[in-house]
Amino acid sequence: MKSRFAPSPTGYLHIGGARTALFAWAFAKKQQGRFVLRIEDTDAKRSTQESVDAILEGMSWLGLDYDEGPFYQTQRFGRYKAVIQQLLDNGKAYYCECSKQRLDNLRATLMKKGEKAMYDGCCRNKHLTSGVVRFRNPNDGIVSFEDAVKGRILVANKELDDLIIARSDGTPTYNLTVVVDDYDMDISHIIRGDDHINNTPRQINLYQALGWSVPKFAHLPMILGDDGTRLSKRHGAVSVMAYRDAGFLPEVLLNYLVRLGWSHGNQEVFSLDEIVSLFDLKDVNKSPASFNEEKLLWLNQEYIKNYTPEHLVKHLQWHLHQQKIDTSQGADLALVVASLQQRSKTLLEMVAGLKMFYQEFDTFDEKLANKWFKNKVPLEILIKKLSYTNIWKNEQIKTVIKQVCDELEVNFAKVGQPLRLALSGDGNAGNISVVAELMGKETTLKRLGRAIEYEC
Ligand code: GLU
Repeated sequence: MKSRFAPSPTGYLHIGGARTALFAWAFAKKQQGRFVLRIEDTDAKRSTQESVDAILEGMSWLGLDYDEGPFYQTQRFGRYKAVIQQLLDNGKAYYCECSKQRLDNLRATLMKKGEKAMYDGCCRNKHLTSGVVRFRNPNDGIVSFEDAVKGRILVANKELDDLIIARSDGTPTYNLTVVVDDYDMDISHIIRGDDHINNTPRQINLYQALGWSVPKFAHLPMILGDDGTRLSKRHGAVSVMAYRDAGFLPEVLLNYLVRLGWSHGNQEVFSLDEIVSLFDLKDVNKSPASFNEEKLLWLNQEYIKNYTPEHLVKHLQWHLHQQKIDTSQGADLALVVASLQQRSKTLLEMVAGLKMFYQEFDTFDEKLANKWFKNKVPLEILIKKLSYTNIWKNEQIKTVIKQVCDELEVNFAKVGQPLRLALSGDGNAGNISVVAELMGKETTLKRLGRAIEYEC
């Protein structure tokens, strides 16, 4: 068994592409087969190295490893040329010199008559020696195949015109290269988006003309945005790496993607091992799947809540590096992460929450400072009592805050909030005695001192 992912490098790796890659990958893993990555870069005008890099980066971030490749179609032009020549030699293909104008007129005439715009085979028997190369599609009969998702599909050959397999400059087109590659790379299962389903009968005819056995096909349902139209940039982030940047875990994205068009009972949360052991093409839905950001966010939060802090620390490294936050000094990062786990929906939120443990903030939030730092008495007593506290633990710190409240005969907020603002700068912090413990006595007292000096 062998499957492949064959993206065209004309943009970043998007959600739909990643879902196709995941299904093809999970299929191969489950069958203990092989998974191939092939870059379909024959369209010189639209393919860029930047996109190739983005695809490789996306695959690597998601952990979709390939057993073979990446192969590049631009490195295989010699092979395609030989196959095109073979088809020409045995009469299965022919040159066509129809001008653009003739083809445009033909299309317009057919459309006017309400007929399908198809090439009329004008050059079929002219024995030309230059121009584009067209495949001589059979005139009669039907193409029939069993799609693993959509079921049996039948298309009459008279619905298919003679497709161009080489442009006039000799470069091959998609339908030719994909067949040659899938055959040469020994692909047994072609799993791809259903936007390609109309190409499949033509490709099957090519396999047959070349005397090659036809692989199995599975066409995945399309992914819709929340408004019911095909998922696109209009619906927000569709690039896989944008989700990394926004603080999603790669395994969350995979878990979410696997549910786009595939299900296993009502289960929503799948580990990667489960995806591999449970994945089956027969459970892929026929109908389109809907992409829902809110559900993805919910899933991210679930994973963050349930992971070990140590595991999250590993995932945070990239973000910490990006934001130039050095956590090698000061509070123990795993403990800080543990204190933030229950209230962070994304790794970015977590980074925002942990920053104050490792970096001085520029200034206090003015509105809050005017509210909580006007009366300096709670801060002064806190400083005095905390500097005598030798056991720097949550419980002891909490007791001190309570003592200050009792002494001033005020509620917890009147002391806790100034402390929270003093330590965080913006008032965003969790359980304040836990925060103070993690921050350490020295930094806590230093920041309280800074709060005292604040002029309202
Ligand atoms: N290169 C094609 C695309 O990116 C995929 C071809 C295929 O999977 O057969 O849409």
